[in-house]
Amino acid sequence: MTDDDHDHTLRAQAVAAVQRLDALGLNRGSTGNLSVRAGTAAGGGAGSFWITPTGTPPEDIAPDSFVLLDDAGTVLQGAWAPSTEWPFHRAIYRARPDLHAVVHMHSPHATALACLRRGLPPFHYMVAVAGGDSVPCTPYHLFGTDALSQAVGAAFADRNACLMANHGLVAAGATLAQAMKVAQEVEALCGIYLQTLAVGEPVLLSRQEMAAVIERFKSYGRARRAA
Ligand SMILES: [Zn+2]
Repeated sequence: MTDDDHDHTLRAQAVAAVQRLDALGLNRGSTGNLSVRAGTAAGGGAGSFWITPTGTPPEDIAPDSFVLLDDAGTVLQGAWAPSTEWPFHRAIYRARPDLHAVVHMHSPHATALACLRRGLPPFHYMVAVAGGDSVPCTPYHLFGTDALSQAVGAAFADRNACLMANHGLVAAGATLAQAMKVAQEVEALCGIYLQTLAVGEPVLLSRQEMAAVIERFKSYGRARRAA
């Protein structure tokens, strides 16, 4: 498979992901956005990525709608303007060479928690799906700004997801499927956390208890493949 074929497949998968988030009610209209790291010979080189165009509803998104940006934010391919939130996607790809897809949603539960300017503490073991014992909430910054990108890039130094205050959720993964899994799991956890807070303060897991979960998650995939 050539890099062009590879990138076309990636963009087709990205279209399906955008439409799935819409169908699940996790993004409405043209809110939220999604990107995948481009193949290195696709005309972009290292650091380039395909991102959803700005202001396009999910039903109108096609593989050719995606915009290819290089690491400087220059449009290399695509007829539309990129999502105005592209800078924090770049910040994640710069911070984490191991991550190849980024999903951003204004999903109801994560956004509600972000409006309280609270992240997820270790109230449930699945919080470890984001790679640590919490999901942080970055300070509020205007969308599309360098300040927001820096905050998100810093949050991703040791996590695969974060909330952005008064805004929404960002999740990333080594693959698009992984990024989608983390995004949907964190959204579900935010819903459970909000329900718990409506009754009282949850009992938090200890650092040791979460370390054991994180360790188990590391070997989980390997154990399944060996079975
Ligand atoms: Zn947004």
